[in-house]
Amino acid sequence: MNSNLKENSNNEYIRNLVRSYMKSIRLNITKGKRNKFNFSNEVIYTEARKGFLNGKYIDRLAIFMRGTGCSQVKEVGGCTFCGFYNATNLGEKISDKDYIEQIKNTISNKKINFSKYGIVCLYNDGSLLCEKEINFNAVLSIIDILNNIESVKKIVIESRVENITKEKLTRIRQSTNKEFDIAVGFESANPLVRDLCINKSFDSSTFEEKIMICNENNINLTPLLMAKPPFLTEKEAIEDFVNSLQYLNQFNIKRIDMELPTVEENTLTYNMWIKNMYTPLKLWSVVEILKKKEELGLKIPVHISPMNYSVSSKAKASNCDYCDNHMLKLFEKYNEHGDVSIFDKINCTCKQEWEKLLITKAPDENLPQYIEKVVLKLMEDVKDLKIID
Ligand code: SF4
Ligand SMILES: [Zn+2]
Repeated sequence: MNSNLKENSNNEYIRNLVRSYMKSIRLNITKGKRNKFNFSNEVIYTEARKGFLNGKYIDRLAIFMRGTGCSQVKEVGGCTFCGFYNATNLGEKISDKDYIEQIKNTISNKKINFSKYGIVCLYNDGSLLCEKEINFNAVLSIIDILNNIESVKKIVIESRVENITKEKLTRIRQSTNKEFDIAVGFESANPLVRDLCINKSFDSSTFEEKIMICNENNINLTPLLMAKPPFLTEKEAIEDFVNSLQYLNQFNIKRIDMELPTVEENTLTYNMWIKNMYTPLKLWSVVEILKKKEELGLKIPVHISPMNYSVSSKAKASNCDYCDNHMLKLFEKYNEHGDVSIFDKINCTCKQEWEKLLITKAPDENLPQYIEKVVLKLMEDVKDLKIID
């Protein structure tokens, strides 16, 4: 066997190991919980945020819809860090009517004051362009509803990379002239990290093709990058993020979303975290990433996403009780002005701990070997596990 073949078959074995493990821990979610949710055509929650429209920083509404559940969870176990499935209908498909009602009820909810928001973002804890989760006609109906609201100037949806097709983009463009963004979980420009650390196994050429067809339809593609996926040290996580920015900088992309890690139940990250094998990113590392971006002259704007999702988290990216709030406020400022010098004057005693963390030794094994070792260790806790051949 030549070395490439050997490497590929080894990665395939580890990919299957990760997938088997992910599928087995997802069973905890479905066991006894089916039909637990009381559907009342209401979204999970909405959150007022800010976002850019034609250079202006305006009010944005993030709508977390009650979704069917990401199809990847059933198929391959889903992403190693993602616990969104906990808040969904566990794979049982939600009707078009229900999805549409969720949006109509949000619009008419007086507490929300919908007309205040120029940007509306729709999240379904999965992919809005995946027909297994939501019929495309329901998506088009929702777009049509939003298109008829004068105050809405920009619509954002989330999708998995693979679900974007020329045909869907054309039909979206036929249904609205408003600015339109599709946020996709790109996670890392390193295919090995994406594949084995995260369990998203599309290749970079697929992503590049989707950028092209989005551009052709005047639709913005917004990649989400995961800051510190499991299995990477703090230092490696910084490097991985910066490398991803360097890769993405070459494309005609308006913005990148930085996802700060949260630790959610029924995920691999959670199971590593309770065994002290994973710690979420330090906020100092975020500053480091932004400074390196500046040093490298990478023009692509980065938006640091708030760590609020439809599921609660057991741990989050943080520094210390003393400086966390201050840092998070500075991130909001950075999102608005993109000025990295706002971090120049901040200091806290916890910075020294972070500096020590950066020089901690990486595992002796290479990344695939390390993943294999960790997953096999985690598997000891799972009974009746079947490994996919
Ligand atoms: S991150 Fe997205 S693709 Fe991955 S499991 Fe969660 S919802 Fe699915
Ligand atoms: Zn601190």
